[in-house]
Amino acid sequence: MNVDILVIGQGISGTCLSYFLAKENISFLVIDDNQLNSPSRVAAGIINPVTGRRIVRTWMIEELMPFVWGFYIELGNELGITAISEKKIIDFFPSPQMKLAFEERINEGDFFLQRPTDENNFLNQFNYSFGYGIVSPSYTVHLDRLLSAWRNKLKERNELLEEEFDLTELKVEKEKIVYKNITAKKIIFCDGVQSSTSSYFNKLPFAPNKGEMLIVEIPGLSNEYLYKKGMTLAPLSEPGLFWLGSNYLWEFKVENPSNEFYKQSELLLQSWIKLPYKILEHKTSIRPATIERRPFVGFHPQQPAIGILNGMGTKGCSLAPYFAKQLADHISQNKPILPEADIKRFRKILER
Ligand SMILES: Cc1cc2nc3c(=O)[nH]c(=O)nc-3n(C[C@H](O)[C@H](O)[C@H](O)COP(=O)(O)OP(=O)(O)OC[C@H]3O[C@@H](n4cnc5c(N)ncnc54)[C@H](O)[C@@H]3O)c2cc1C
Repeated sequence: MNVDILVIGQGISGTCLSYFLAKENISFLVIDDNQLNSPSRVAAGIINPVTGRRIVRTWMIEELMPFVWGFYIELGNELGITAISEKKIIDFFPSPQMKLAFEERINEGDFFLQRPTDENNFLNQFNYSFGYGIVSPSYTVHLDRLLSAWRNKLKERNELLEEEFDLTELKVEKEKIVYKNITAKKIIFCDGVQSSTSSYFNKLPFAPNKGEMLIVEIPGLSNEYLYKKGMTLAPLSEPGLFWLGSNYLWEFKVENPSNEFYKQSELLLQSWIKLPYKILEHKTSIRPATIERRPFVGFHPQQPAIGILNGMGTKGCSLAPYFAKQLADHISQNKPILPEADIKRFRKILER
């Protein structure tokens, strides 16, 4: 079998890349082993324009938000699903200081932040003492639907091989790669944390980060909003089900769900929610994060047939579509990749 590009991985990165390759009439095959605990399958799918204690805007968000909205609407239309929804985040202040910080950012003119008209609006559903602010717009990407609908499309078009990719079977030449019976001009790794241990990319400054979440049933709670107080409660596609998370662990011994996170979440739910709820599931995954919090995009300086789209960290839903398009445009029209994301910035390390 001959294709232009062999794509490894069908998380959000491989999904977006294969979508843009198809748009540009570049032939491809995706190999994915369907790991059910991959971060793309455990994530909440939230795109929140602000972050941190100072409620600052996230990197490039003014450019990313309109781009990804258009992308997910278009992809959803092609697949006959709702791939993205706009939501307001109800940000309950954990302390008077946080309320003050939020007020300061509103006064500085941040248009993503708003004051509520009535601070008592959520008193029937939640306990809170210091009021709340509103972050709007924010988005949720319906990753569960999107990944499986795109997977089905790939299967229909014979563009998916459902198996584990074995790096020892890869033969790399300057102008092409050969993998078993597949010959391609290039191979692009969208395989998440797996790349942090591969012989081609293990020198990139990956910083894998463990995150956990619970699935909670809260039948009486409106799915119109995301709710935040220390953790985030986000509606899932199935009515009455919510995603609760997460933690961010740079150092971890095991990938299994931890008792600490479960207990911490249980305590939060007990003190925060007034409605009846039931914890249904506890899952964990490892984010492909990077030390300088910027993605890894582009081709290996010594192996021009080997590329990567990775390092999405906590922001795969907003970064993956944007940089998948850049990578596809780079392949088809030799357009430049944003220098802060291009792995050319690690040329010296990768050439060692
Ligand atoms: C708890 C948690 C919450 C999160 N919440 C959000 C959020 O709300 N918003 C957001 O934007 N991001 C969130 N993230 C981060 C987001 O999940 C990641 O940035 C994103 O999923 C990374 O996607 P990816 O496609 O690059 O990698 P992955 O999701 O890791 O996908 C890699 C794919 O490659 C496949 N694969 C790997 N190795 C092989 C192999 N050898 N052979 C074949 N296939 C292989 C895997 O099966 C998988 O399908 C969260 C992450 C976690 C853990």
